Amino acid sequence: MPRPVGLSGTTNLALVRVLLVSTYELGNQPLGLSKPMAALEAVGHQVRCVDVAVDPIDVTDFDWADRVAFSVPMHTAMRLALQVAESVRARRPDLPLCFYGLYATVSRDLTVTSPADAVIAGEYETGLVAWVGGVDPGRAIQLARGPALLPARSRLPTLDRYTRLAVAGEEWLVGSVEASRGCSHRCRHCPVPVVYDGRVRPVDEATVVADADQLVVAGARHLTFADPDFLNTPPHSRRVIAAIHTRHPGLTFDCTVKVEHVLRHPDIWSELAGAGCLFIVSAFESVDNVILEHLDKGHTVAEASEAIILLRRHDIEVRPSWLPFTPWTTIDGLVDLLDFVIAHDLVPNVDPVQYTVRLLLPEESLLLDRPEMAPHLGRYDAARLGWAWSHPDGEVDQLQQDLAALVEARVDQPADLTFAEIDALIRSRATTGRPRPVNGSVSSGPPGQRARLTESWFCCSEPTEAQLAPLTR
Ligand code: SF4
Repeated sequence: MPRPVGLSGTTNLALVRVLLVSTYELGNQPLGLSKPMAALEAVGHQVRCVDVAVDPIDVTDFDWADRVAFSVPMHTAMRLALQVAESVRARRPDLPLCFYGLYATVSRDLTVTSPADAVIAGEYETGLVAWVGGVDPGRAIQLARGPALLPARSRLPTLDRYTRLAVAGEEWLVGSVEASRGCSHRCRHCPVPVVYDGRVRPVDEATVVADADQLVVAGARHLTFADPDFLNTPPHSRRVIAAIHTRHPGLTFDCTVKVEHVLRHPDIWSELAGAGCLFIVSAFESVDNVILEHLDKGHTVAEASEAIILLRRHDIEVRPSWLPFTPWTTIDGLVDLLDFVIAHDLVPNVDPVQYTVRLLLPEESLLLDRPEMAPHLGRYDAARLGWAWSHPDGEVDQLQQDLAALVEARVDQPADLTFAEIDALIRSRATTGRPRPVNGSVSSGPPGQRARLTESWFCCSEPTEAQLAPLTR
């Protein structure tokens, strides 16, 4: 049982030296460092931080620290953090370690035994301060909002070391902010409801605006909202955007919005476009309505198409994320996905890695108890932080591996060329022989370069060997 953690843990503090470690945050300057740093420094602790995604680890920091805490907002970050934690353990076996963030509680075997002493998911700042102050949270999910604190960014690596916005032949610096955490939905493949269970926690409006201010001072010309879904709380999001746009009229932004929300709020898009929204990320996942139903996505394929058309009326592009490989995938179904992308002129909008994503089943995934999942489930794999599953057709798994190898070997190649290779490989193994649709036959986007972030969107799927390599040197 989680032990209660409260503000009482923040009283009578002795000054503690805390090393915060981030391993991966989608190529952004980590909120997972800046927010806890602000919380810990506010009560007088001494904090150092390292973002392993851009800097090597200095092992003398392990010698300096009284405690080490790892930001784990997603699967890839957790896999990498476990590697770093092992090296901390090897050098300082008795140093208390903590994992915090969305993925902190995903592994029952590797956390709160070895290597972690504590794990805190959800609204982790208060619990982290309490842990540093000597309170043992064990394995805790925190949902009470902590005090509003401006993220401490001044000692983080500068924005020019992170993802850029590629737009109109230029590359702009990008700042990552969040206006909310959690999600009001419970899509079954998603790790967010495992922690938030349908709850949303808006971030204090003035704090978000002040964070945008400091990012602009640091050089940001574009903001990426890290909220799981920006339209979980439309009035709050509208106020945040209006305030930021008033202060920084030239600033652009992107955010993540599910199809259901795109269509439920048709009146919001002219307002968001006018305030600088260039594109949204949307978890389309599949073009098979049965699979969408299994995942409880709350939208159909026709509605995904409708969302693209609606947004383009306001000059907003969609960058869909896909989950092509599930236990219910067929190779002909993957051809349907390719055809959807072509017919909606989305080839430039999709990072090639998206065509390789295979369903992850973390501990407590909402899919684990579903009858349609049962025939495919294997055992829990602690090293991979998830439940194994197998596809009934071995050729589908083989295709996934071949596509992943293809994409990994083409990281420096333009996305349209890689798409052509992906398209050819999938069609060569399909039974359907129908011709490709005409590009843009359902909907067309603007000609020329489409705005995109230079880091491929890569969230809850297996990390590639290339991603793991920097830590294993
Ligand atoms: S996939 Fe998106 S909409 Fe669905 S639960 Fe996760 S964050 Fe919410």
